[in-house]
Amino acid sequence: MTVSSKASVIVVGGGTMGLASAWALARAGIPVTVLEQFGHVHDRGSHSGFTRIIRQAYHEGANYVPLVQRADRLWRDLSERNRVELLIRTGLVEIGPPSDPEFMNSIAACDSHGVAYERLDAAETRRRWPFEVPDEWVACFTPSGGYLRVGPCFDALRDEAIAAGARFVYDVRVAAIGSTTAGPVVIDHGENRWSADAVVVTAGAWLPMVLPELLPGRLTRLRRVLTWWKPAPELIDELATLPVWATFDPRGFFYGFPWSSEGITGLKLARHTTREVDPSDVPVDPDEVDRSVHPHDLEPLRRFVAERFPAAVGELVDHRVCMYTTTPSWDFVIDRSPADPRVIIAGGFSGHGFKFAPAIGELVRDLVLRPNSVPPAEFALTRQAAT
Ligand SMILES: Cc1cc2nc3c(=O)[nH]c(=O)nc-3n(C[C@H](O)[C@H](O)[C@H](O)COP(=O)(O)OP(=O)(O)OC[C@H]3O[C@@H](n4cnc5c(N)ncnc54)[C@H](O)[C@@H]3O)c2cc1C
Repeated sequence: MTVSSKASVIVVGGGTMGLASAWALARAGIPVTVLEQFGHVHDRGSHSGFTRIIRQAYHEGANYVPLVQRADRLWRDLSERNRVELLIRTGLVEIGPPSDPEFMNSIAACDSHGVAYERLDAAETRRRWPFEVPDEWVACFTPSGGYLRVGPCFDALRDEAIAAGARFVYDVRVAAIGSTTAGPVVIDHGENRWSADAVVVTAGAWLPMVLPELLPGRLTRLRRVLTWWKPAPELIDELATLPVWATFDPRGFFYGFPWSSEGITGLKLARHTTREVDPSDVPVDPDEVDRSVHPHDLEPLRRFVAERFPAAVGELVDHRVCMYTTTPSWDFVIDRSPADPRVIIAGGFSGHGFKFAPAIGELVRDLVLRPNSVPPAEFALTRQAAT
């Protein structure tokens, strides 16, 4: 199918990837309408919690490095054009045993793409930062790491999309997507029909509800709790100058941010994945997810902090509950629908998509505009169906 430059595109979901897709499409001259069930920046999907890590040390796969480098460039350009700080370059320190294959993937990704890093032994790591690092552990410090400020990123993408002609419609929940010979049709819960030449589905954790036939049973929604802590006042200056950090701990992948007032004043830390049996780490329904915090959410963090990061011990200030939508391989899905190639899907961002958003927007734009373009093979739908 060829979509002319006059084509209209509907984007279903105005969160991270919907905004970025609308931004890239509108700037390419395409009339875009975004339908979002809630509002601009909300805490019911996958982008809540105010900040997101950006890193080039990519243990999930060296193939992600060029994509994050492209996104880094786009975030910087967006930041300059909008005169707003979007990316805070704190550096990233990753810590773990040298026997950990995921950790070593991270270092290998740096090696294969010339990403600058320092490899530090345990003593030097302890000297620089307040982590209790066992003697046999090592650290990898990448100065290119840092964090993105979610609200300002969203505002800048939306402002530029609107300036380029995009329209955002809030409080509209899409119920289904159908196809006619004239193009795909989007039907909302009020039974209104929205027709377009192409539809981009970026519904995050609701993707399996919007397109139930796509990867049935292969997209898992996981609940994740972000926490903010108040450590001892005399430690705050030191904690405010921390890089973003992550540990490949035998119990799981823990990560955190420097002490800041980004959204909530406190020391933000969380657990990305667990390597223990955790009966609470089960699939959830995004409309029913439990948004309270429970002792079983905090216990692994308290244990981690007591053992590895005692400077962070303190009282819980606040929390947010957020959702991952994971694919079997934890890679993204960016592809055309097999049922209708005019429907483009960008989903399954598996807890690590935010940093890439403007680069994902460009990939989506190319799938809409170039009928012969193919997504990177690692993001093909067939890969997740087969994994
Ligand atoms: C706790 C946590 C920590 C994370 N940390 C990082 C990190 O440090 N670095 C990083 O790069 N990534 C991180 N991520 C991942 C990143 O935030 C997500 O990959 C990204 O936000 C996913 O974007 P999305 O557009 O798919 O989802 P969302 O941003 O949730 O957007 C989906 C949107 O679609 C809307 N929608 C859904 N269904 C409908 C419908 N039927 N009709 C209309 N609208 C609809 C939703 O309301 C929502 O606004 C983290 C995620 C979580 C949960």
